[in-house]
Amino acid sequence: MKGITILGATGSVGRNTLEVLALHPDKFRLVALGAWRRDALMFEQVCRFAPDYAVMADEAAASRLAERVRAKGLKTQVLAGAEALSQVASLPQVEQVMCAIVGAAGLSSTLAAARAGKRLLLANKEALVMAGELLLQAVAASGAQLLPIDSEHNAIFQCLPAGARCGVAPPGVRRIILTGSGGPFRDWTPERIAQATPAEAIRHPNWSMGPKISVDSATLMNKGLEFIEARLLFGLLPEQIEVVVHPQSVVHSLVEYLDGSVLAQLGSPDMRTPIAQALAWPERMASGVKSLDLVAAGRLDFLPPDTQRFPCLPLAQQAARTGGLAPAILNAANEVAVQAFLDGRMNFGHISIVIDKVMQQADLGRLTNLDDVVAADSAARLAANRLLLQFVGVR
Ligand code: NAD
Ligand code: MG
Repeated sequence: MKGITILGATGSVGRNTLEVLALHPDKFRLVALGAWRRDALMFEQVCRFAPDYAVMADEAAASRLAERVRAKGLKTQVLAGAEALSQVASLPQVEQVMCAIVGAAGLSSTLAAARAGKRLLLANKEALVMAGELLLQAVAASGAQLLPIDSEHNAIFQCLPAGARCGVAPPGVRRIILTGSGGPFRDWTPERIAQATPAEAIRHPNWSMGPKISVDSATLMNKGLEFIEARLLFGLLPEQIEVVVHPQSVVHSLVEYLDGSVLAQLGSPDMRTPIAQALAWPERMASGVKSLDLVAAGRLDFLPPDTQRFPCLPLAQQAARTGGLAPAILNAANEVAVQAFLDGRMNFGHISIVIDKVMQQADLGRLTNLDDVVAADSAARLAANRLLLQFVGVR
């Protein structure tokens, strides 16, 4: 029985992970669940899966959960606060940690799991974007393992030669091709995109995901963050990574070798496949995902991304080329802008403008330790919050 902690248990990836685990009660032991403040959902999960620990980063949510757990006579110990997320990621009985908190909020616990030498199932791409080199160093120093959950990176990992390790350029690879659906606004005019509402932005055509990554998919920032993620995970140069729009989301990404061979991973667009692949690796186990029906899919289309209508992609690619603190600054500006859009405070079209301005103004200092990342993240958030004031109420 492998001990597992799920951070971000109440989210889309967290809930999919629990569904996969429910198929394999003989293989995994759920040590801990962690999330932010949805205590009612966490209570349901505690009742169904009986973890040893349940952590709520929000103290008030933790008190409510503790009260209900006590009243029901359950054995699960309830812990409160962000620090407790790192604790349950580092327990000796934990072998695998699903890092599925969204955004910068997941960085500390992801780093804690890496330092404790765990197998990290990494969905929290923002942690890698912010502190890539540091996270990879922590993984290497402790002997931890890093397995990508992001479907594109998981696809690439599956197409690499056996023995490929994160952060090290795989032998014989010429380049990789990241696919993306193009998001819900793929065929929209620039005028319509600029005025898109939050409800329209989170209605993804192929994937069901949390609100932040759904908006990122609509701006194509998600593909930009994935570009940075791929560069770090696979030790490649930016010019070795191509982004291709593939509306059907059946080919999850591809690897091209020096001899011209191109290997792809295909499947139904369902996160339970990469989750089960990483949980079972190097073996295989069922995920509950239905078989891919190629005849029903009918055709597979591939198009270049439109960087004019979706300027977040080139902004992220530029940050990848600049390196250092640029990706952390980009990520922070994006998190602030996306939240302001989701809160109805500014237009969809303002997201890329805010990020671009923050990037232009930013002090791109050196990345030597975590303090540098935290300082750059805070400064970029401050700058983004200041900038977006000029867009509030502007239509
Ligand atoms: P979500 O919004 O559905 O869930 C986010 C989870 O993070 C929740 O459990 C929430 O409680 C937790 N969380 C948020 N803020 C927190 C905080 N301050 N402290 C502690 N916990 C906090 O998001 P999601 O769609 O599941 O995405 C999670 C991560 O996985 C993101 O980094 C996303 O980019 C990545 N990812 C998601 C998918 C997908 O299909 N949903 C695919 C690829 C990658
Ligand atoms: Mg992805």
